[in-house]
Amino acid sequence: MTAAEATLAQALDEAAGQLTGAGITADAARADTRLLAAHACQVAPGDLDSCLAGPVPPRFWHYVRRRLTREPAERIVGHAYFMGHRFDLAPGVFVPKPETEEITRDAIARLEALIRRGTPAPLVVDLCAGPGTMAVTLARHVPAARVHGIELSQAAARAARRNARGTGARIVQGDARDAFPELTGTADLVVTNPPYIPIGLRTSAPEVLEHDPPLALWAGEEGLGMIRAMERTAARLLAPGGVLLLEHGSYQLATVPALFRATGRWSHASSRPTCNDGCLTAVRNHAPAPPA
Ligand code: GLN
Repeated sequence: MTAAEATLAQALDEAAGQLTGAGITADAARADTRLLAAHACQVAPGDLDSCLAGPVPPRFWHYVRRRLTREPAERIVGHAYFMGHRFDLAPGVFVPKPETEEITRDAIARLEALIRRGTPAPLVVDLCAGPGTMAVTLARHVPAARVHGIELSQAAARAARRNARGTGARIVQGDARDAFPELTGTADLVVTNPPYIPIGLRTSAPEVLEHDPPLALWAGEEGLGMIRAMERTAARLLAPGGVLLLEHGSYQLATVPALFRATGRWSHASSRPTCNDGCLTAVRNHAPAPPA
């Protein structure tokens, strides 16, 4: 069979090899080639297998060439899959990341436990919600939860509202630092993936550094500016005993829990590594909230 007669299955193998050669991990290369191929075939990635024995659709190699420059596959196709759910993006909107799935699974388990233990409609807030990544996923998995999300970027908030259609998640556009005054002291859970990369730190992947919106990435010299602000906002929103789950960098595993402990507003604060970054779990105590 000549290259021109190759099947899509063969082209996927060839493309995945090229992507790993460009520095993309084998897992990501496989997932990305499938996402690009499904888009080229105009089917959902779950239905791609029915196309594998057929010809290579005309746009496929064009998409692969773009991906070889480290343009994210999600930006090429205009949507991302997060925990199996499709999220529509738009130019300049942060792409959901696999590391945030770990935090979202933790949040789902906590909401389900709250329901089992007698809180039938737990209240959860997603600060810096991006395209609705955590807020919409929580609303899908725990329909009984009351889910509120806030996002500063107009484009991301618009995408989040679209992604939230058909779910109970309420998304507003605004500054997470002044989020939801009407919910003060009432949240059972706060989740957030705020900007946390120290200015000048270039350890994140090129897909992030070159293609995610700067607003969603950079957070001052140590990357702690927005984390400090989220500490205060979460301390205001959470009821005593409520939990905050916060994504941060792998290089902040010691500094972030120390920052929380120093405030006196948390009865527990510890961080663990996730597949790419870190996650803080903090439990609100009875100390008064900081002034708004
Ligand atoms: N987690 C990504 C990284 O640091 C993007 C930053 C973020 O999620 N806030 O590579």
